[in-house]
Amino acid sequence: RIVFLNGSFIPYDEARIPIMDRGFLFADAIYEVSAVLDGELVDNEAHLSRLDRSLTEIGIASPYSHAEWVVRQVELVRRNRLVEGIVYIQVTRGVAERDFGFADAMSPTVVMFTQVKTILESRLAVAGAAVITVPDLRWARRDIKSVGLLAQVLAKRQAAEAGAAEAFMVEDGFVTEGGSSTAFIITQDGVIVTRPLSSDILPGITRLAVLRLAAEAGLRVEERAFTVQEALRAAEVFYTSASTFVAPVVSLDGQPIGSGRPGPHARKLRTLYIELARASGRD
Ligand code: PMP
Repeated sequence: RIVFLNGSFIPYDEARIPIMDRGFLFADAIYEVSAVLDGELVDNEAHLSRLDRSLTEIGIASPYSHAEWVVRQVELVRRNRLVEGIVYIQVTRGVAERDFGFADAMSPTVVMFTQVKTILESRLAVAGAAVITVPDLRWARRDIKSVGLLAQVLAKRQAAEAGAAEAFMVEDGFVTEGGSSTAFIITQDGVIVTRPLSSDILPGITRLAVLRLAAEAGLRVEERAFTVQEALRAAEVFYTSASTFVAPVVSLDGQPIGSGRPGPHARKLRTLYIELARASGRD
């Protein structure tokens, strides 16, 4: 397995990061994940734009241009012979003696690796996902794709203990988003509802594509917050992310959603997204 560390492609076993790295000590770091389908990156320009935005928001100068990132991502995919999975990018503020304060001229640590994942033939897509709700305990800048993911780690452990695949985070009675996904419902009269973009949620790249596909397919879309009660009464519930595409939800907190089977709109949107993802990779 070959990984990328600070400009070099090296075997995983040889990749070393100093314990004074601020990513390790402070979670002073951001990350990005692009899917790979048929050996090609999916909607990657949008992911690189969000990477730039995350870097800007925490004041790290982008180490590479989009074109330079892509060359490295493609090289990593090639060296690992990755057909289906993800490319993970992480940028930390860098290495310095532990101190909350940091110098302006630090050199960031840049890490990239690939992971094999079954996206198309995923069991979740066929059987549908069980989801639980948990209080959203995260910080107030969820629009930054920070590696400070402790709240999500704990939420997902709770989900796993309940036999669920994902946790929807809840604040003031309203769903913010999934632990690592964007949450959607489809009301009984067929309206697709998802929370509008703000600092409350990560601006999902898959979210944007799916909203466009839904509108093109003639479905009504509303960007507004929805409650857990509304989700329980919805015709369908689903979530989206780069690594799961569109995942139909069949139960929420142990209660069946709709028929208790993946709904027709979620399945349709999944099919449409797969077509789009394949097309984007061939660009
Ligand atoms: N929200 C959170 C908290 C996430 O971790 C993710 C996965 N990166 C998403 C939403 C979905 O974003 P995307 O569609 O860009 O993967």
